[in-house]
Amino acid sequence: MQYTDAGVNLTSHQFEQDCDDIVARAKTAGVSEMLLIGTNIAESAQSLELAKRYGFVSTAGVHPHDAKSVNDDYIQQLNTLLSQPEVVAVGECGLDFNRDFSPRPQQQIVLHEQLMLAQQLNKPVYLHERDAFSTMQTQLERVNVKGVLHCFTGDAQALSFYLDYGLMIGVTGWVCDERRGAQLQALVPLIPDDRLLVETDAPYLIPRTLKPKPKSRRNEPAFISAVVQQIAQLRGQSEAHVAACSQTNFARLLTTGNGQI
Ligand SMILES: [Zn+2]
Repeated sequence: MQYTDAGVNLTSHQFEQDCDDIVARAKTAGVSEMLLIGTNIAESAQSLELAKRYGFVSTAGVHPHDAKSVNDDYIQQLNTLLSQPEVVAVGECGLDFNRDFSPRPQQQIVLHEQLMLAQQLNKPVYLHERDAFSTMQTQLERVNVKGVLHCFTGDAQALSFYLDYGLMIGVTGWVCDERRGAQLQALVPLIPDDRLLVETDAPYLIPRTLKPKPKSRRNEPAFISAVVQQIAQLRGQSEAHVAACSQTNFARLLTTGNGQI
């Protein structure tokens, strides 16, 4: 089976020592495509380098956790990175009112500026939203962008808005967690085939259903089959179908940017 991993933090220090091995293991496991996430300017530049080295694609953006430390010219720097063919989306950007590592007003300014950039460049956005749905809704209603709501963890109302808005929905190993993933498990069957993206968000969110359980808690793209398996089971579909939907949708995200053909 061929897999697309629509979100990997390959620049994480957790992958520093054995990045080549991680990518080789992923390829052996059938992962033929990865989107390498950038979460600030330095990491976005590094993700671009890794994308070039391994033949993948990447994002350039500022994560809400990093919103507090942007420079005056960060939009210009993102613009430069986004002019490279490997850099296919603006992000990871968004709002995180769960951990609040940056002040909320600052998160909102930095998100809005990146949404405007995505709109201007006609590039998809790679969005992060934790416990900030109503503010995200207000932000999205002010612009006209396409893209993906990555690592969706919201409720039915949020899912319905994101789908109506035209976004794709990224599902991670969160769905493999029988406790905190219960709400997501109930919502996963409601995502239309043409809006579903599967991502590991490695090295985070190791699937709790993974067998055998690795000694380290580090997630890696090779483990995406466990996420696909769980999604397939919840949707009553074959794993091959789920993997193929995600692959097709990812290709469409890069060409037209959203689920609306
Ligand atoms: Zn995220």
